Amino acid sequence: MGAMREIGCEEVAASLKKALLKAGVELPADVKGVMKEASRRETGRSALVFQRCLENMDVAEKEGLPLCQDTGMVLLFCEIGQDLRLDGDLNEALERGVREAYEEGYFRKSVVMDPLKDRRNSGTNLPPVVYHELVKGDRLKINLLLKGFGSENCSRIHMLKPTCTREGVIEAVLKTVTEAGGSPCPPIVVGIGLGGTMDKAAVLSKKALCRSLDSHHPDPWYDELERELLERINKTGIGGGGLGGDVTALGVKIETYPTHIAGLPLAVTINCWADRKGEVVL
Ligand code: SF4
Repeated sequence: MGAMREIGCEEVAASLKKALLKAGVELPADVKGVMKEASRRETGRSALVFQRCLENMDVAEKEGLPLCQDTGMVLLFCEIGQDLRLDGDLNEALERGVREAYEEGYFRKSVVMDPLKDRRNSGTNLPPVVYHELVKGDRLKINLLLKGFGSENCSRIHMLKPTCTREGVIEAVLKTVTEAGGSPCPPIVVGIGLGGTMDKAAVLSKKALCRSLDSHHPDPWYDELERELLERINKTGIGGGGLGGDVTALGVKIETYPTHIAGLPLAVTINCWADRKGEVVL
C-alpha cells in the first residue's frame, strides 16, 4: 500500500476562508466576461440595469465590499480523494472557514438556526450546506456557492412523467423562469438537474451552477439543449431586473443522472447575476 498524502485541516479552513472572501466581492472571470458581453448586447429598457451591475462589480472589487447585501447561504461540494488523509476535523474546518470569512469580510449573516419554530439568526452564517463525495486520488476539491435567496426562492422541482419529451422539459424550465420574472434579480444563471430522485435532481441543479459559464456540456445532445434553453429564456424578454430586454439569462447548465423507469425528475435552480462561486483544490 502506498503512503497516504496528508493535509491539515488548518490549511482547509484557511483556504476556504480565502476563497469565500474573494467569492463574496469579486465575480469569477467567466461571469464577468459574460456580464460585459451581455451589457454590450442589451438594447432593451434594462440596458441601464446592466450598466449598474457592472459599476457595482467594479466598486465591490476595488473597495473589497460584498457584491450584494445578501451574501448568501454557503454551499460546499467536497470531493475527497480516497488516498488522502485529513489531519483534524473536516466539518469543523469547513465551519471555521465560513465563520471567519463572514466575520472578516463584513458579509451579512443570513442563516437562521431553526427554519420554523424559532427563526433566530445563528450570528455566524453557520451552518453551510455540505455535500461529501469520495473520489479517486489524493486531493481535496471544494466547489463553493454563495447562494442568495431572492433567486433560491424561485427555484422549483418538477416531477415530470417518464413520457415527457425534450420540448416538455423546455416548457417546464420556461414556466419556472417566467413565473420568477424579475424576482430573482435577472440576468439569471439556470442550473438544471435531470434524473435521479427528487433530492438527487435538486443537488445536480446546484452542481450545474458550479460549472464555468464558458464550458460546454461534454454530450453534444445536452450541449444543444443548453443552447436552446438559453435562447428561449432570452426570448421571454424579462430582461435585466425584469425591466424588459434581450438578455434574461447569462447561462444554462445541465447535469444528469440515471433515473427510474416511472419518472423524470427535473430541478431548476435559479441564480442571480451575482453568480458567486469558487473552487479550492488542495
Ligand atoms: S437574488 Fe442575488 S442579487 Fe438579488 S438580492 Fe439576492 S443575492 Fe442579491
